[in-house]
Amino acid sequence: MRFLVTGGAGFIGAALANRLAAEGHEVRALDDLSAGDPSRLHADISFTRGDVNDIPKLWTLLQGVECVYHLAARVSVSESMLYPRDYNAVNVGGTVAVLEAMRDAGVRRVVLSSSGAVYGEQATQPLHEDMLPDPRSPYAVSKLAAEGYLRVMGIRWGMETVSLRIFNAYGPGQQLPAAHPPVIPSFLRHALRGGSLVINGDGAQTRDYIYIDDVVTAMIAAATAVGIDRTVINVGSGVETSVNDLITAIGSALGKPLSPLYVRNQDGGVSRMCADLRRAADWLGFTPKIGLAEGLARTVAHDPRFAFAAK
Ligand code: NAD
Repeated sequence: MRFLVTGGAGFIGAALANRLAAEGHEVRALDDLSAGDPSRLHADISFTRGDVNDIPKLWTLLQGVECVYHLAARVSVSESMLYPRDYNAVNVGGTVAVLEAMRDAGVRRVVLSSSGAVYGEQATQPLHEDMLPDPRSPYAVSKLAAEGYLRVMGIRWGMETVSLRIFNAYGPGQQLPAAHPPVIPSFLRHALRGGSLVINGDGAQTRDYIYIDDVVTAMIAAATAVGIDRTVINVGSGVETSVNDLITAIGSALGKPLSPLYVRNQDGGVSRMCADLRRAADWLGFTPKIGLAEGLARTVAHDPRFAFAAK
């Protein structure tokens, strides 16, 4: 098949594009490089630098494409509190631009990388797709709005759409920006430097961490699965891990005890998150393969930023 991956030079986008290319597909990647790095893409992948809101560029890239993976986005919950307009422009506006260009180019299917963040605070766990979303940040609102555009424009314009609510993905190559870094590479970096790990709250808040290879496996299934049109599907590990348990697991992966520093008056975000994976199993044939201990060990071994420092 021929694919376009927007955000294709990012953490998940590059892993996805590389797996698709390795499986013999023709892959085009679009990324404005605001956070991505095209050097991580296999030489067979055709990379174009550009903005996901650039419709003429999308028209060109979409010629002959059968499925779009739409990942281009601003990705930090905490940063979105500071720049909601930017998050709206890229995450919502960019999704609408992709859908309009797909309509014009006659593309059949789009797979959106939505987020488990859309659930917000719920009374029960695990989080099932039928629960009423309760987004708690501009980032989460932008993902829920993007899901809505997929569903509505898909119906109106006769395109197949599916939104994957990805939970906390991690693995080698994850971005580590100076401000608002994701939790696992941030903790690894601090741990290797011997500094304290600053925990917002008491460390009891939970997340569902899913290794990058498992995320990619689920995404690839979504390109061809039948009967999933206009649906949302969770992509997580199905395991609920507290921040305190994560610190213990990182300590084990690095072979050294870590010293958390609790900042109790800080907001630790949503209190619990764990994906219900029944739909992913039934509709995508997806079950995660790599547990947290194995995933952390692979991250430390295969990411040069951590493997080097860990020696
Ligand atoms: P990432 O920052 O590595 O990837 C996003 C990519 O989009 C970057 O390469 C960035 O340069 C690109 N981009 C940003 N604005 C753009 C624009 N205007 N035009 C073109 N490209 C642009 O983050 P990631 O973790 O790989 O996330 C990929 C997708 O998965 C995002 O949509 C994110 O919201 C979603 N997601 C990620 C996670 C996670 O845990 N990593 C969880 C849920 C959902």
